[in-house]
Amino acid sequence: MIPMNLLGAGKKATYLNTGVWSKKAIKEARLFGEINVAYSSEEQKFNRVPTEDEYSVPEDSEYLYLVSNNTIYGTQFPTFPTTDKMLVCDMSSDILSRRLDVSKFGLIFAGAQKNMGPAGVTVVIIRDDLLDRTPEKIPTMLCYKTHADNDSMFNTPPCFSIYVVGEVLKWLKKQGGVVAMEKRNQEKAALLYAAIDATDYYRGHAEPASRSLMNISFNLPSPELEAQFIGEATKVGLNGLKGHRSIGGCRASIYNAFPREGVVKLVEFMQEFEKNNPA
Ligand SMILES: *Cc1c(COP(=O)(O)O)cnc(C)c1O
Repeated sequence: MIPMNLLGAGKKATYLNTGVWSKKAIKEARLFGEINVAYSSEEQKFNRVPTEDEYSVPEDSEYLYLVSNNTIYGTQFPTFPTTDKMLVCDMSSDILSRRLDVSKFGLIFAGAQKNMGPAGVTVVIIRDDLLDRTPEKIPTMLCYKTHADNDSMFNTPPCFSIYVVGEVLKWLKKQGGVVAMEKRNQEKAALLYAAIDATDYYRGHAEPASRSLMNISFNLPSPELEAQFIGEATKVGLNGLKGHRSIGGCRASIYNAFPREGVVKLVEFMQEFEKNNPA
């Protein structure tokens, strides 16, 4: 929908390829405009995001597209690009996890299912003036203006999922809002990365400067030990540690809702496992 609404014949945009979700976005965008991929970490198994001196954004780009947190690989932009081009960002896996300056963005979107609630809801924050830039010949349903003009009720929305997102937002407010979440997320991730860095037994996938606070991907000395680790962890209630099939290994997803106690328990489990199963 983004390139369909914001590009068109002869229009250009710049994309940063930092994982599977940006790669898919690039493929779709090429249907609607001229796409410049200014950076890619694909050859390094997407283990990092670029610093600003590693790419440039051509003057004729309508926007710079990035994925703020790369869910599968466990990398995250620690800060957002300072280019004067407007940013367009997929924040599906880290929205509401840290503070940010919304004014730098033309459009932010996020599927609810990581940090906000059940699947089926997608939040879109779009700058008002962009609603009028949409080419005329696009399907009504796929035009952002349609949804803005109809208070998100052009079609029947998934009411229950939206209701649950509302409840999650009330919970988040009670916790102290995004400011408190950011602090808590930094603390949680620091505990886990410290455990990984304390030994050669565990190896983090992401380069340290690109480390995600939401998804922590790591490896053990062998795939056999990883399988055993995941199996034993599941038995003590530490679930979902299997890495995405595209990179294997282990991944701890510690979104807003995941408690600090769970991270502490995982760190203890990791130390115990290493002791009992030397490489
Ligand atoms: C999960 C995720 C998606 C995909 O969400 P779907 O609703 O499954 O299509 C896209 N981008 C990012 C960054 C994600 O983490």
